[in-house]
Amino acid sequence: MSDQAFYSGLQSKLETLRQDGLFKPERVIASRQGSEVVSDDGRTLINMCANNYLGLSGDVETSKAAAAALEKYGYGLSSVRFICGTQTVHKELERKLSEFLGTEDTILYAAAFDANGGVFEPLFDENDAIISDALNHASIIDGVRLCKAARYRYANNDMADLEKQLVAATEAGKRHKIIVTDGVFSMDGTIAQLDKIVALAEKYDALTMIDESHASGFMGKLGRGTHEHCGVMGRIDIITGTLGKALGGAMGGFTSGRREVIETLRQKSRPYLFSNTLAPMIAGASLAVLDRISKSTELRDRLMENTAYFRQEIERIGFTIKPGTHPVVPVMLFDAPVAQKFAARMFELGVLLSGFFYPVVPMGQARVRVQLSAAHTREQLDTVLKAFEQAGRELGILKSAQ
Ligand SMILES: *Cc1c(COP(=O)(O)O)cnc(C)c1O
Repeated sequence: MSDQAFYSGLQSKLETLRQDGLFKPERVIASRQGSEVVSDDGRTLINMCANNYLGLSGDVETSKAAAAALEKYGYGLSSVRFICGTQTVHKELERKLSEFLGTEDTILYAAAFDANGGVFEPLFDENDAIISDALNHASIIDGVRLCKAARYRYANNDMADLEKQLVAATEAGKRHKIIVTDGVFSMDGTIAQLDKIVALAEKYDALTMIDESHASGFMGKLGRGTHEHCGVMGRIDIITGTLGKALGGAMGGFTSGRREVIETLRQKSRPYLFSNTLAPMIAGASLAVLDRISKSTELRDRLMENTAYFRQEIERIGFTIKPGTHPVVPVMLFDAPVAQKFAARMFELGVLLSGFFYPVVPMGQARVRVQLSAAHTREQLDTVLKAFEQAGRELGILKSAQ
């Protein structure tokens, strides 16, 4: 503790973050996660910013399934998978995920961040090319950094630019090429054009990888994901995703694909080899979630109904949203201070949501992001819409009011 300059340096950097309005405070919740939460000051808030798309995070059936697995398999394994950290429940979950996603095999990780961090380095080297969407998740960016392959970047969701990068990688004589994209981009709710991406991959003999963190469990008629939504099931090489959003919400991630890919990852992927096994209660609860959503699309259907209703009504009130169909609804306020004021006013009105501004989103694109859940009741959504209308009128944002 002798280098005082280190600590004062950190203090002044933190102070700069605070002054620039970029410091991220943490809201403390004193209840379960759900469409309504109780904050630590005792207020009840309608929650519009969780990735709890199917409403399963605080759900009683989910915790019962976790408790049953906890009872049967114990709390944890104190081991990585390949020493003594694999139980029947882990193998069952890997089988079930493969069946759900339409792939051959699946490998579990402690988080999707680890799945993405550990997927590239074992499979690709300096002879290969990774062609990545500019808005891909931080964990994909980090995973690519850990790998020696040449990096190509294409503008978000821009198929002409993707083709340009495919041509460049081909002309550079790269051995294998892989196109990597989020299935759904979480800031805008943009759905990747997987039909076009798969067509381009076939034209240029490239592989494809999608990160399904904001899609698994509800995109597509049966909730299988963006590949189902876009009609390309069975034509994506590698699928990564999380168990920490729609599929129960605790934590955990996976990579799914061809048998030889998954087997290679079990042998070589560092976050798998050198990090503890997923807690068995999470594996058990995830299995129960997959069973439940495989039997009925009720939750997924309700989520999509809520999404369509909210998108329609928020525009009718006079707000501008990014068009689309995904339960991520960016309500555009454009100006950063307005977005901050708006989110703060909504909090006073009993609605929990998050504001985003530069550098998280491009300059001039400040917004609040709403995320719908199957757990939201129509009454809750109407309360939220009323609060939007009130805060919008107060801040002079509504289109009709201008
Ligand atoms: C949330 C998210 C992750 C990280 O998931 P964890 O399981 O929480 O690590 C990875 N990729 C995308 C696209 C995400 O949205």
